[in-house]
Amino acid sequence: PVVTRFAPSPTGYLHIGGARTALFNWLYARGRGGKFLLRIEDTDRARSTPEATDAILQGLAWLGLDHDGEVISQFDRADRHRAVALELLDKGSAYKCFSTQEEIETFREAARDEGKSTLFQSPWRDADAATHPDAPYVIRLKTETSGTTVIRDEVQGDVTIRNDQLDDMVLLRSDGSPVYMLAVVVDDYDMGVTHVIRGDDHLNNAARQMGIYKAMGWDLPTYAHIPLIHGPDGKKLSKRHGALGAHEYQAMGYPAAGMRNYLARLGWSHGDDEFFTDAQALAWFDLDGIGKSPARLDFKKLENICGQQIAAADDAALLHELEAFLHATGAPSLSTAKKQLWLAGMYCLKARAKTFPELIDKAAFIMADRPIQPEEKAAKNLDSVSRGILRELTPHLQNVSWSRDDLEAALNGFCEAREIKFGKLAGPMRAALAGRAATPSVFDMMLVLEREESLARLDDAAR
Ligand code: GLU
Repeated sequence: PVVTRFAPSPTGYLHIGGARTALFNWLYARGRGGKFLLRIEDTDRARSTPEATDAILQGLAWLGLDHDGEVISQFDRADRHRAVALELLDKGSAYKCFSTQEEIETFREAARDEGKSTLFQSPWRDADAATHPDAPYVIRLKTETSGTTVIRDEVQGDVTIRNDQLDDMVLLRSDGSPVYMLAVVVDDYDMGVTHVIRGDDHLNNAARQMGIYKAMGWDLPTYAHIPLIHGPDGKKLSKRHGALGAHEYQAMGYPAAGMRNYLARLGWSHGDDEFFTDAQALAWFDLDGIGKSPARLDFKKLENICGQQIAAADDAALLHELEAFLHATGAPSLSTAKKQLWLAGMYCLKARAKTFPELIDKAAFIMADRPIQPEEKAAKNLDSVSRGILRELTPHLQNVSWSRDDLEAALNGFCEAREIKFGKLAGPMRAALAGRAATPSVFDMMLVLEREESLARLDDAAR
């Protein structure tokens, strides 16, 4: 069975690059009936904060990327990491190195002067334990000095690294703390991770990590190093390209399904499909579809996809997410009556909205309460002539069955008899029903608000 993991370092918010890595791992595992695990890589005590862990968990929750089992803290597993280093020492695959920082520097300078490789070669690698001083030491892995290490990567292909370009990496520092590289390998092994899908900034680490797997006699996971996301200009992603945190997209009101769809397309493709459901993404996602070159952020595409996702969303689910959005903005929660109106009107609201703020804007006629306070632009449509027209109209609506056909017939008939264009009536009606100049169609609004509320608003405005 497939086991993947997302292993963020809790040093800030959930970056969209990280969100995409998490999504790829989630899709790969969930689409194969496997497990998706979450490990917080908090060994860097100076930079790791609980706030960052919370922010990452919140970002994942927003995106609906649920993980299996407990959240694992890498720092909490330090004893186990240390035990593996000691096991490697026991086996003779690692050694105690007593070289001081100064000695290492001196070695490097001499190597530089002689034009040789500056990779540190420890004199302690083959030293007899009897010669060991009573002094601080680090534990280093005995890395092979000749031959090559080939990373078989599902995205990058075979990546060959000459072993003489790898030094004997430190596994345990002199204070006994395990290094990050050891922790990753031990954790991935203990967690039963079968597929390591992560940014290609970790590709070079893979060669070193493979050395630990080999020394322990552990099976390697399948590697897939995905190219990092670039800005629209093709340059490395940075703040000047705009929002980088998943929470910023949430705050802008992009729907989570749209974000998932968009992030899935950032660096992965399935033919020409741009818009897809979660079920399709789960069925289709594979490592073959991951591109070799960096994907570029494309806000137009994001908006386009989000618009399609909103239009296709289940009304109740969309309202639920909208309520969470409103809640996050500090808005009061919706009354039962308002929720009913939202559900009744969702069909016309969701047609062209790309974000929740746009959806809310279209729903002004739902969110507003009598007496409707028209905005400046709408107020212009309620001059005395217009109010007169509304006054004449309302009696004609008293006996109309509140169906779209009958409402259309009634309003069109009124305009014909009154010899006015429909627009002359619709403008004042929009102002009366919504207090806005731009709204969904007057028919949609009247159907959603129903007879009593619609007539009351028209009467209010006609006065
Ligand atoms: N903690 C690393 C990061 O946030 C990920 C390491 C890995 O996936 O192996 O970049």
